[in-house]
Amino acid sequence: MAVLPERFNRIKSVLNKRIENLTVLVEAVSKPHNLSAILRTCDAAGVYNANFICAKDQVKTFNSTAQGSQKWVNLINHPTSSAAILSLKKKGFKLFGTSLNSQSRDYRELDYSSNTCFVLGAEKWGLSETLINEVDESIFIPMSGMVQSLNVSVAASILLFEAIRQREIKGLIPKNGEGLNPTEYENKLFEWSYPELIDSYKKDGKTYPKLKENGEINLQS
Ligand code: SAM
Repeated sequence: MAVLPERFNRIKSVLNKRIENLTVLVEAVSKPHNLSAILRTCDAAGVYNANFICAKDQVKTFNSTAQGSQKWVNLINHPTSSAAILSLKKKGFKLFGTSLNSQSRDYRELDYSSNTCFVLGAEKWGLSETLINEVDESIFIPMSGMVQSLNVSVAASILLFEAIRQREIKGLIPKNGEGLNPTEYENKLFEWSYPELIDSYKKDGKTYPKLKENGEINLQS
């Protein structure tokens, strides 16, 4: 059945503002409510991909805190920290590691208007040595309380919305899908509009059909 026009317009308006060059890399965060809250923030900020370090035998679990945002943000799994770093650097991302050590800089001093990946660490231990040593910059969010750190999902929100704030000032927030490459945009528009058809197209190795202005499938394409 064709996607309803209102639903299609809503999907398009969200996809039009999605940003591929702003992301997070989450290392060893294990609590479902934290993973879920990070993902929900990614969706709210317009982040297109969220990266996780997740060995094959580990399973990431999301709960109701996510409010279904795992459907709207692509989850990219990396088997190890080194594989994640390699992949993100190859794509041109600058890695901003969050850590509370003395080399870290106040997050408000830095610029996040081009390829930015915020690297977030485990609830108990923070970032691994590998990541601390390999990130391009170490940043922290200044705090004045008795407790030494923020909840990881809260830190993710502060940082992502700082990046959005900076990009808004520079007029860099996409309005018409320019935050994604055109093929990615077209494919995702189809997948969000017709999730029930994804498997059959993928199984047969077929490219997705084009969609008409009103969201109907263009059977001539
Ligand atoms: N003892 C750990 C440490 O020293 O990093 C605390 C980990 S904290 C609960 C979990 C994650 O939240 C951190 O790895 C970091 O990603 C993020 N985080 C917490 N407080 C932060 C702050 N003030 N600035 C930046 N990131 C923070």
